[in-house]
Amino acid sequence: MIDRRKFLHIPLLGVSLVSARNFFGQTFETRSALKVKRPVVVSTWDSGITANNGAWPILQNGGRALDAVEAAGRASEDEPSCCVGLAAWPDRDGKVTLDACIMDGNGDCGGVSFLERIKHPVSVARKVMEKTPHVLLSGSGAQEFEVANGFPLELGELSDDAEKEWKEWLKKSEYKPKANIENLKPGLSQFRPAFFDDGTANHDTMGTVAMDAGGRLSGMVTTSGMAFKMRGRVGDSPIVGAGLFVDNEVGAATSSGVGEEVIRICGTHTIIEQMRTGRSPEQACREAIRRIVKRDPAKAKEMQVGFVALSRTGIIGAFSLVKGFTFSVTNAQYPKGKIFEANSWF
Ligand code: ASP
Repeated sequence: MIDRRKFLHIPLLGVSLVSARNFFGQTFETRSALKVKRPVVVSTWDSGITANNGAWPILQNGGRALDAVEAAGRASEDEPSCCVGLAAWPDRDGKVTLDACIMDGNGDCGGVSFLERIKHPVSVARKVMEKTPHVLLSGSGAQEFEVANGFPLELGELSDDAEKEWKEWLKKSEYKPKANIENLKPGLSQFRPAFFDDGTANHDTMGTVAMDAGGRLSGMVTTSGMAFKMRGRVGDSPIVGAGLFVDNEVGAATSSGVGEEVIRICGTHTIIEQMRTGRSPEQACREAIRRIVKRDPAKAKEMQVGFVALSRTGIIGAFSLVKGFTFSVTNAQYPKGKIFEANSWF
């Protein structure tokens, strides 16, 4: 049963505390609301710094938010340590299948899902948006479209780390999405999301939202989806309104975590509509989390979903199911990027 008073008792602007985190002893500030100047780019997780670094030069030079978020996605897809792109974890059959979407604040959007052997799904998503009358292309059709648009087909081999982890996972072959914390797993050369001792899954997603100097908002998500997922499984990330929603009138929101839970509540669309009615970004993210908890509180405690939102007035807020969801912010105040941790339900 959800405690309604707890739900209504929501901290507002300016509340700030420091919370302890991962096994490196890193700590990140938690803010209920962070007021930032535009242009600004915000990405999920600590590795969002890599995405932001791709976007920031464009924003800093007066470029469009749409170009900036595409660059953010490409930077993440290029960087094996970002846990997305072709070097990421495969499905349970040992194949990396990628999902991505991109959305502009005027409602233009495009996505790809179940895409194989493509280095930059975010750019294919943009092509879907700009060159087709459709919003989402999937599987071999998306791949054919991509090749027809001049993108190369990669070999599609697993990275060394991914192969190692997949083989480890095969020993038990259990698929149990669980709470995730982005961390370095000892024994892997790359910065990877941590696996729990029982080998269960975690996140492999980069979500980015940005506002340019002109106040235009855009967002993108790129992911390999839940690690060791069933073949053909598609999560929230390429689905507009689930993993990403942007509206220039209100703001932009993105998510990471167990995609099925996000799809069930149309997570980011819910957040933007809550913000439209006057809720702050954190309050809106918290409301989306509350709807996930309401379905099954015991289950919700055992997994992670994190949302982060940016309002058109430059307020950033986030909320997650369990502790450990971080997001990275880059703007003139934080040109090298700064990592914050979201408040959480549990
Ligand atoms: N949301 C992604 C999915 O469900 C996974 C993640 O964020 O790690 O595919």
